[in-house]
Amino acid sequence: MAGAYNPFTMAQEQFDRIADLLDLDQPTRDLLRYPIREYHISIPIRMDDGTFKVFRGFRVQHNDALGPGKGGIRFHPQETIDTVRALATWMTWKCAVVDIPLGGSKGGVVCDPHNLSLREQEQICRGWVRQISKNVGPLSDVPAPDVMTNAQHMLWMLDEYETIQGVKQPGFITGKPVGMGGSLGRTEATGYGVIFTVREALKELGIHPADTTASLQGFGNVSQYAIELYQQILGKVVCVSCWDQNDGCSYSFRRSGGIDFKEIRGMTDRFGGIDKAKAKAAGYDVLPGEAWLEQDVDILIPAALENQITAENVVKIKPRVKIIAEGANGPTTPEADKILSGRGIFMIPDLLANAGGVTCSYFEQVQCNMNYFWDKDEVLGKLDSKMTAAFNAVSQLAKKRKLYMRDAAYVIAVSRVAQACKDRGWV
Ligand code: NAD
Repeated sequence: MAGAYNPFTMAQEQFDRIADLLDLDQPTRDLLRYPIREYHISIPIRMDDGTFKVFRGFRVQHNDALGPGKGGIRFHPQETIDTVRALATWMTWKCAVVDIPLGGSKGGVVCDPHNLSLREQEQICRGWVRQISKNVGPLSDVPAPDVMTNAQHMLWMLDEYETIQGVKQPGFITGKPVGMGGSLGRTEATGYGVIFTVREALKELGIHPADTTASLQGFGNVSQYAIELYQQILGKVVCVSCWDQNDGCSYSFRRSGGIDFKEIRGMTDRFGGIDKAKAKAAGYDVLPGEAWLEQDVDILIPAALENQITAENVVKIKPRVKIIAEGANGPTTPEADKILSGRGIFMIPDLLANAGGVTCSYFEQVQCNMNYFWDKDEVLGKLDSKMTAAFNAVSQLAKKRKLYMRDAAYVIAVSRVAQACKDRGWV
């Protein structure tokens, strides 16, 4: 990424701080600061108008000491190798913190699907696999959907991979449709995972969920399923926010008596945008985008975008807020994080809070590899066990070593990966 903000530099700085806390030796630092392997590919495509165009693509494998790489493939016009490197690094830590036997990878293609026909997108998917099929696979590196890629893209990629290999290997890729190797429960997994960790945090604080209220940023996949489960454990959501495509800005929707989840979902388009007029008619206050952060609630769940809680707006967080659960990736800037840590807010950091998605993708891969699929309750039950165990490990370490929850999560993740590298005799 151009300019001052380079996500890979940020990922390395984060790692350096944890490496200092763990007093890691130099060779381990040299290994974990960089991806272990990366592939840069060119994908020539014949466009619909008959001309040829070459797209640049990447696959970065940050570390596979704990198991096959796992990570999405992004289609984005501003994709850069440093973004992919950073995201691959974060995947290593996320898989390690929930203790699943997978490493960290990420891939991408520099393209804008909005300007490509479905046939052209299919060619890019198949071309990406053709260039890289020897270096990925169910036992080495398992891709998944990410920004602007979906279940259809995953099926095209799987089909190309199986054609090249000459065998059926649905465990090559996750995020497939249910019935074509996808897992039940994947849609709910990230949002439910957020609430499994919130439920455990409340237990630790000695607060009953029925006595709490929450406000969320975003009303998409993560946020909606987080709300569904939070309401099942009797929590009350008073505010949600979303992006308004027509107005080019975001709004918050508040009803102090509590939002009616089903009602508000009925006013929402497939991109997670809520209809303002319908919401007003149903008695919701339509407030500016940032109002979700300023509510007098116990729990805040940013579940939309990165860099949303900043040094400028962190002061607007009310004293009543006890827990922040990061549904989105990177919603809190490092400056704001310092202030929240100082205020003693119980932070459930992104790598832990939103790891339900990758955990369920791991379950998808396991089910595909044995060609036997679990029912939804079994998937969600296993997800609950994994998330609860991960939460407890992080929170116990935080207490024992008097660490901020984010640091404790990173310490667990980095030390697991570093130990695996050592045990294998790499460093
Ligand atoms: P989504 O596209 O389904 O929903 C995004 C929501 O955010 C929409 O309601 C949209 O209106 C809202 N939004 C966008 N810009 C906004 C703004 N400026 N202010 C307020 N709301 C805004 O996305 P999602 O799958 O729910 O993902 C949300 C976040 O969670 C992302 O950071 C994503 O990387 C992260 N995440 C998602 C998963 C997953 O499995 N879906 C897993 C891990 C992390």
